[in-house]
Parts: sequence; C-alpha cells; structure tokens
Amino acid sequence: MAASTSYETFIGLEIHIQLLTETKIFCGCKSKFGDKPNSNVCPVCLGYPGVLPALNEHAVELSYKVCRAMNCDLAKEGMFERKNYFYPDLTKNYQISQFEKPFGRNGYFEYESGGGIKRIRFHEIHLEEDAGKMIHQGGRSFCDYNRAGTCLLEIVTEPEFKEPQEAEDFLQAFRRTVRHLGVCDGNMEEGSLRCDANISINTPGAGLGVKTEVKNLNSSRFVKKALQYERRRQEKVLKSGGKIIQETRLWDEDKSVTESMRTKEEAHDYRYFPEPDLPPFRPDQAFFDMIEKSQIELPLARKQRLTEDYGLTPDQADYIVEEKAAADYFEAVVALGADAKTAAKWIMGNVAKELNRIDLSKADLGTEKCALSAERLTKLLGMLADNKIHGKIAAQTLAAIFNEDKDPEVIVKEQGWDSSADEGDLEKIVQQILDENPRVVEQIRGGDQKPRGFVVGKVMKATQGTANPQSVQSIIGKLIG
Ligand SMILES: [Zn+2]
Repeated sequence: MAASTSYETFIGLEIHIQLLTETKIFCGCKSKFGDKPNSNVCPVCLGYPGVLPALNEHAVELSYKVCRAMNCDLAKEGMFERKNYFYPDLTKNYQISQFEKPFGRNGYFEYESGGGIKRIRFHEIHLEEDAGKMIHQGGRSFCDYNRAGTCLLEIVTEPEFKEPQEAEDFLQAFRRTVRHLGVCDGNMEEGSLRCDANISINTPGAGLGVKTEVKNLNSSRFVKKALQYERRRQEKVLKSGGKIIQETRLWDEDKSVTESMRTKEEAHDYRYFPEPDLPPFRPDQAFFDMIEKSQIELPLARKQRLTEDYGLTPDQADYIVEEKAAADYFEAVVALGADAKTAAKWIMGNVAKELNRIDLSKADLGTEKCALSAERLTKLLGMLADNKIHGKIAAQTLAAIFNEDKDPEVIVKEQGWDSSADEGDLEKIVQQILDENPRVVEQIRGGDQKPRGFVVGKVMKATQGTANPQSVQSIIGKLIG
C-alpha cells in the first residue's frame, strides 16, 4: 500500500531487548520473568545509598555479539553514563545507560520486504539497565522491582523506513535474528522485546519533519497499525495548516488510535554524566576474537542457502529458518541421508501436525522434549522411500514415535505394518478377493476402472492398511490383464 499523499515519510525504531543473562546487569539477582513481585531484589537494584554496581560480563558479551551481527563498528572503549530522571519504577532516580561511547555504532541489517531485500542502518546499540514495572489495578498503583536492573540492549535505527509495512517486516526479521543469536527470547507480549516507533512526514526533498514517538506497541502488527494511524493524523494536521508537536503518544489498541502522553524530552533534559562507579570497558583482542568466533549464519543468509543448496521453495525455507532449532534439525536430517525436499515437506506437514497435537512446536525439534530425533525421521523417510511402508502407514508410524518414544523400524515390526512383506502373499489376497467378486472382474474387463478402487479397499482391509495401494493396482492389472 503506497503513501496516499505527496508527503515523504520517515520512520525510525527504538528496540529494547532483554538479554538472556542468568543475573541482572549490576548485581547477582536472578533475571527472570514471572516470579513473585519483588522477590528478585537486593540493595543494589533497589538503589540503596552507598552500594556499588559490578558489571555483568555476560551482558557485555551478548551486547557485542549483537553489535557484530548487526555490522556495527565495535567500541574499543565503552562507557556508562547516568541518565537522570524521576519515576517511581526507577529506584536510583537515574538509569545507568550509555551515551557518549555506546558498544556499537553505524551498523546495518538486511531484511525481506515487498518481495525484495531492504537495508536499514543503525544509529547505535547500547547497553543499559531496565527499570521496574508499575502495575495499576483497581485505582491503586504497585511497583514490582524484579525487572529493575535487568540487562537491556537498546537498538536505535536511522529514520529510514519509508512505509509502516517495512517497519513491521524489519521487526519480525530482527526478532527472528536475536532469537537465532540466542541473546533474547523475543517475547513481545511479556515485554522482553519492546519497540517504540517515531515518525515524521514532510514535503519531498525537505528532509525530516517534526517527529512524534509512539509507545506501547507490544506486537509488530501494532507497530504497523500505529504508524499508519499516526501518518494519517499528521497528514490531516499539515493539510489543515496546523503544526506537528514533538511529543510522545500512546497506542490504544482497543480504540486503534494514538493519544498524546507527554511532550518529548530532549537529551540534555536528562543531564547525562559519566557513571563514576564504573570504569570504561576496554576489551582486549581475545575478547574481540571470541565475539568474532561466536558469530553464526543469520536467518536471511540461511534461508537463501536452503533454497539454493536444497531446492526448497522460499515458503519452505522461511518456515524452517523461522526457528534455529528447526533449521538445525532439517540440516541434520538431510546430512543423515534424507531427501531434502521430502524432509522439508514432512517437517511443514505431518511433523508440524504431530508437534501441535502434543503441545510442542518446531522450536522443540532436536531437543530432548521431542521423541522424533533427526535419526528417527531419517529412518522413517527412508522406509517410505524404499516402499517398505506407504504414506498412510508412515503417518501412523510418526504418531506412534511420539506416543511410544520408539524407533520407527521397531514400531513397524511390532505392528506388522511392513508392506514389503511378500508380494506372493499379496497376490494371493488379491486373487481371493477377485474370486469372491466375479461381477467386479467382469466390469473391469469391460473397461470400467471404478471397481478397481473397491478391490483395493478390500485388500487394504484384509491387510489392515499395510498393503501399498500402488502394488495392489499393478497386481490387479496383472491378474485381470
Ligand atoms: Zn539486585
């Protein structure tokens, strides 16, 4: 959907991701969502006077890992500053963040949108502590400080998205990527990935307009909807001769509108100054080598490789790389000898159905939770390819693997589902059914093909579904001629 006006649109995103560290950024408290309120707190993250922060090295590693994956210039010296403001969920009345020397600058990221590959540049990526959480209930307000001091990475894009749809496409691809990197679970509903969007419009060639920022966007779809709404609103204001006010607005999903929350602060309002209790972080060469070594193939590149190397359709490749576990699993199955296209079809089809039935997802493939190891799926597909079993039996066997946690050969043997048993036996069964149904034989001889289905059905019943329907067809042809 193209812009409906003569205005040029500029959209930028600020994404916050909660890093998957065991503990918080400056203390040893557990970093965990969903625990009893105020159970993971200590004097440091509660901002008691006189306490000292100790930087969580794992958080720094994960931050640099993201910066490197996003093609940033990596800081040779990173610094922390105090960002001063008062809010009840901010225990110290300042937040330790990065301002002058963030860990990453000038990165970029490529994502699919509108049938092509687009590139968005990053202004910076910096590490900071998260605030606590306010809960407003029944006219009262509560503070939960479990989240206070958890590790938060902020990713700031340049205002270069031209369409709300691009912002949505980017966010989905970005989410998939941080999940692949193993740095964030990407759960937008629980707030471990949060996104604020800013947007301005202007007459073409005039550069950025006055921007508004939209908050409270807890899904990538809301980001798109809010931006579409906000663009229409700004157009109306400008067309009627009004001015856009720089402000922060909240997305109200129920009403599908943005509403003014507060006029926007400028950076100098926060009176940033260097955090005196944390020395600058100056990583050595070994640290940079370790970051370099930790890099993995990103989902977009992997998707392209799966289509090129294995002949998967873009849809199949997309489905499989959506979760790193599923992509690793798929490649393991192919490495064990399964046909790639068949494996992809099964993973998207029968396997997905079975996983859904037992409340697992493709993210569980290849893990201990999932009885269908790569070896078992490979064996199952092998038996299918060798005509030892046919499609319907293969699907039954698949269900049995999940139910009984056994190898497919064992199941097929125990159940007597092997259809390759004996062609001679099968021929005898077909002959017997033909003998019992002379009219059917006449009809088939007379050129009517329909009764063949009747015979196949009888044979399937007699063999409890194990016979290969194609074999039965050819035996009928052979016996009746
Ligand atoms: Zn603590």
